[in-house]
Amino acid sequence: MNEISFETKAVHSGINPEEHNKTTQIPVYGSASFAYNTAEDLENVFQGKQFGYVYSRIANPTITSFEQKINSLENGIGAIGTSSGMAAINSAILALTKSGDQIIASKSLFGGTFSLFNKVISKFGVKIKYVNTCDIKEYENSVNEKTKCIFIEIIGNPKLDIPDIKKIADISSKNNIPLIVDCTLATPYLFQAKNYGISIVIHSATKYLAGNGSTIGGVVIDLGNFNWENFIQPDFNELKNKIAPQLLFLSVARKNILQNIGSCLSPYNAYLLSTGIETLPLRMNKHCENALKLAKFLSNNEKVAQVNYPGFLNNPFHKIAKKYFNNKFGGLLTFKLGNKEKCFKFINNLKIAKNLANLGDAKTLVIHPASTIYHECSQKEKEDAGVSENLIRVSVGIENIKDIIADFSQSLKEV
Ligand SMILES: *Cc1c(COP(=O)(O)O)cnc(C)c1O
Repeated sequence: MNEISFETKAVHSGINPEEHNKTTQIPVYGSASFAYNTAEDLENVFQGKQFGYVYSRIANPTITSFEQKINSLENGIGAIGTSSGMAAINSAILALTKSGDQIIASKSLFGGTFSLFNKVISKFGVKIKYVNTCDIKEYENSVNEKTKCIFIEIIGNPKLDIPDIKKIADISSKNNIPLIVDCTLATPYLFQAKNYGISIVIHSATKYLAGNGSTIGGVVIDLGNFNWENFIQPDFNELKNKIAPQLLFLSVARKNILQNIGSCLSPYNAYLLSTGIETLPLRMNKHCENALKLAKFLSNNEKVAQVNYPGFLNNPFHKIAKKYFNNKFGGLLTFKLGNKEKCFKFINNLKIAKNLANLGDAKTLVIHPASTIYHECSQKEKEDAGVSENLIRVSVGIENIKDIIADFSQSLKEV
């Protein structure tokens, strides 16, 4: 049999009905703990000598099922579900760094990640060296002996810039530094990270993986591209002779960090994510198709100053997006209206699209990033992230696009 295709894995992977009373959807194991008949059994499970679940902060069968499903879609060697996308990023960074280390991060990051790095990670004595997202030389020049990872986003949110991943992966492998990529905006359906030399993938599962705006969740996936044997870090060194080198990162991230920080995924949310993923390919196709149609409509409207969508031929990232995402361009676009007042008026007049802070929902969503997600950032930080006072971000949903265009059209008439 050929390798099973993405769509089939999205539906079938992560659950074996024989292991769960023949259920075809993973049941929600709503149990904090797992009881054992003998003290010896529990001792063995605790010490990893026997497989079993102990406590749901550490692992839970419903969460495992989600982890296996997303891991199979990424072709990874293992995944760790977390309470949110932020928790996924936090766990990965804390696993790799200690006080005095440095990480290199691109400037056009999602506002929440920016805030995590500047307000939390830096407090632990980790220096964040920001580089211009697409300036490969800057990454190269920023590497020093303290650098413990490079962190970028596959598509900058909301700037929609797409760095040359292959070149950044080359720098990371040449210097033996893991490359972490937040692939939330692309999902494994559009972007197969493993093929680009990426070490670790992060997803805010809240977005396209859940697909309905139904829950918060996150995941960290080790793609097996990085050789952890030569990674210098006390937590890793301690484990080096105890477990397979391939599993070092996953083990440190789960046992040393996630387990102690306590940002575990809830089994109920894991269930929602697993069911959401089943329709990911269908939804992504529709998101991309609708986004291109809406982008074209907006670019033909005289009130709209500028539309940013990688699907346009004249977009600076068109070529690279086309190559990475198999001729698709994602579900996010931004556009500019005269000023903040006009943006607010436009948003207030919409009848179908929702004004809220999320993306990747089945529903079309709009937000004014400058006054919301980025309101605490300096002018310079906003500029770097591509956020201006007259910018509106749209996460295009899977409705009939005619209705969304009609909604946008009527609202633009009022502006
Ligand atoms: C939303 C988002 C996050 C944070 O994820 P949460 O699930 O909200 O914690 C991280 N990265 C990107 C690109 C996002 O869009």
